[in-house]
Amino acid sequence: MGRDFGAAAVHTDPDQLFGIPLLASSVPAVPVADADPLADAILETLVHRIGKDRRAARPHDWLAATILTVRNDIIEKWMASTREAHTMGAKRVYYLSLEFLIGRLLRDALANLGQTGEIGRALASLGVDLAEIEEIEADAALGNGGLGRLAACFMESMASLDLPAYGYGIRYVNGMFRQRIDDGFQVELPENWLQHGNPWEFERRESAYFVGFGGEVVGSESGHIHWKVGEAVEAIAVDTPMVGWRGKRVNTLRLWTARAIDPLQLDRFNAGDFAGALAGQLRAETLTRVLYPNDSTAAGQELRLRQEYFFSSASIQDIVRRHVQYFGDIRTLPDKAAIQLNDTHPAVSVAELMRVLLDFHDLGFDEAWEITKKTFGYTNHTLLPEALESWPLPLFERLLPRHMQLVYAINARLLREARAAGSDDAAIKAISLIDEGGERRVRMANLAFAGSHSINGVAALHTQLMKQTVFADLHKLYPDRINNKTNGITPRRWLQQCNPGLTGLIRETIGDAFCDDTTKLDALAAHADDSAFQQKFAAVKRANKVALAQYLKGTMGVRLDPDAMFDVQIKRIHEYKRQLLNLIETVALYDQIRSHPERDWVPRVKLFAGKAASSYHNAKLIIKLANDVARRINADPAIGGLLKVAFVPNYNVSLAEKIIPAADLSEQISTAGMEASGTGNMKFAMNGALTIGTLDGANVEIRDHVGAENIVIFGMTADEVAAKRAGGYNPREAIEASPELAQALANIASGVFSPDDPDRYKGLMAGLYDGDWFMLAADFDSYAAAQREVDRRWSSRPEWNAATIRNVARVGWFSSDRTIGEYAREIWGIM
Ligand SMILES: *Cc1c(COP(=O)(O)O)cnc(C)c1O
Repeated sequence: MGRDFGAAAVHTDPDQLFGIPLLASSVPAVPVADADPLADAILETLVHRIGKDRRAARPHDWLAATILTVRNDIIEKWMASTREAHTMGAKRVYYLSLEFLIGRLLRDALANLGQTGEIGRALASLGVDLAEIEEIEADAALGNGGLGRLAACFMESMASLDLPAYGYGIRYVNGMFRQRIDDGFQVELPENWLQHGNPWEFERRESAYFVGFGGEVVGSESGHIHWKVGEAVEAIAVDTPMVGWRGKRVNTLRLWTARAIDPLQLDRFNAGDFAGALAGQLRAETLTRVLYPNDSTAAGQELRLRQEYFFSSASIQDIVRRHVQYFGDIRTLPDKAAIQLNDTHPAVSVAELMRVLLDFHDLGFDEAWEITKKTFGYTNHTLLPEALESWPLPLFERLLPRHMQLVYAINARLLREARAAGSDDAAIKAISLIDEGGERRVRMANLAFAGSHSINGVAALHTQLMKQTVFADLHKLYPDRINNKTNGITPRRWLQQCNPGLTGLIRETIGDAFCDDTTKLDALAAHADDSAFQQKFAAVKRANKVALAQYLKGTMGVRLDPDAMFDVQIKRIHEYKRQLLNLIETVALYDQIRSHPERDWVPRVKLFAGKAASSYHNAKLIIKLANDVARRINADPAIGGLLKVAFVPNYNVSLAEKIIPAADLSEQISTAGMEASGTGNMKFAMNGALTIGTLDGANVEIRDHVGAENIVIFGMTADEVAAKRAGGYNPREAIEASPELAQALANIASGVFSPDDPDRYKGLMAGLYDGDWFMLAADFDSYAAAQREVDRRWSSRPEWNAATIRNVARVGWFSSDRTIGEYAREIWGIM
């Protein structure tokens, strides 16, 4: 809590608090401070807010004092932004997301405010290194991967484009788990990101709402519907400021935390039942304790639905309260509020808004439904059937009886419209909000679609596939709703902050117009073939590689040659992303180098990082395989260091910021049709890596922008994958047709990389022979050939440099500013 921050210090010896060291010899040298008002402000904050003397202050104390000092400036802008939106009666955007993968905030805030230099100097005058304290800021890991990171990039872009916007989500006490690698295996630990307090956030106890669960629905005498809830918790808002580029605007990320309404049941406590007295509080706190990995299928289902309703309900209540307070009339809601659902996790909001409109504002069903559809937009992030959310009907009904009634009512209306439009029985089945095949389930994607005026995919190919597959029948019924908004990344974090070397070089070459409009990076293309520029560009890349190598030497103990090609695949570990394809090719390459050491091999470093969902067996096994392959290859003197493999633990935003600027090759090799967009692909290209990839997700559009000659594409297209699957794919045939592949699989299966447990990968390899759902075998030869093509290009360095420079020059379109501009104009109607 912001205001309790000073209390976070846990010293038992007050002498230490005030800089009276226990041992005289440990007195640190204190330089004489210059008359720097910022330094004075930081010092003053350190003493009065943190309660520490300068000599006793530890790095975390300096970090907190710096953040609190910078925050003062942010608060002024924040209030001005809010006031302005209020006076103008502006329409606001509400971005609802179960995940916000924001990472660290200090460097971002300083850069966007243009204060990096002055704060750095002020701290230096106090003997503190800004870079050092930036490094100890906790990574706010409130998300799994791309979807959560997109929400964070969008928050930054909405502030940068001066759009009044709120993000709504959950303040998980432990967000995404922290990953440790023990003996090559993933171990999941709770992420304690709040352990030193969080000086960025403000708890708003006055913004609290009741959220109910269970109970029953009764009609009252006045004819009103009344939901008598079985239990209720309080949702309390915790706000974090989101600073836009050049400090233009500061928006609010509002995360909800749960409290029991009756935190301590005193009667039970007094009767000696201490645990029972606190049970309600524990139950409430459980709601906002952890983020479930989105592809986990096991336990925690009910808790996940509770989380979804908890944050949806609190957010809808807050939005409606604000609207009525500012504008008086609930009927004008769609003119003043655009609510965007980031995937289906907040889809129950559709039913929640209907409930609020019907049960509290007495609107008729038709009018309420029109308001709801005009207010919501829904972004779909996946077509994978196992990731399309649906809830067992009995669970949904028990937890949310009133919403169940509303889902039925919405469904009746939807199916009436479908029948009137001539939908046949098969179409009706597909459109229905209830899945009737087997155990009855509530389909959240259909609910989100029905309740929104706009449904968007996140890359052109993905949007097209949405129309052809999951939403084919809904699309036929409502052909104007589906549209595309190709994802983007914020160039502030993913170029300027993470790669100051490249940013400086670009600035001195083409000026700094690109800082406000990344399409201006285009001017770099004119320098792509200039050998003097190429050399500077390569020098920046090399310096980034040296820095990464040093970091990995320090953290993992691996030695990496900065002159080798850094070949990188970092993303969640999932079979569709095909880390296994990369590993098998690595094994095949290793074999070839051993058999033909005389050939002119390109030295490569293969870097992997990523977390596997805790219940995802094969993904975890792939992590172990990466580590087993690394152990064997890195220790083999026969290959003379030509190949190195490393699995970097605990992939998160801060690690991505270190690795991406140092990458030469970006691996984007998902089975075509399965990666909705990807955003990692954009980050790498913007930092001067060459992409090796399939025609999947946004790779297709990246190729269109950077030019087919500046990217290495391989493998089947989405259409070919679908056709092959339909025609009865036989992986065994594909494996037997590729001796290189067959040999690599045999090596892995026979325990070459796992002598301690030779059978460890038997099942994983057998899975490729027996099914190979992700079609590794079908794409293997094409992938291996593409890798040799990459080698050829690397060996002709001027050509390589020119291609990677053209990637930087032409990838500016993939800024999240462009994406948000499209959302604003075409979905939200606010620009
Ligand atoms: C960008 C990013 C992702 C998404 O990566 P993809 O390669 O698109 O899956 C995931 N996690 C983190 C930490 C990221 O920064």
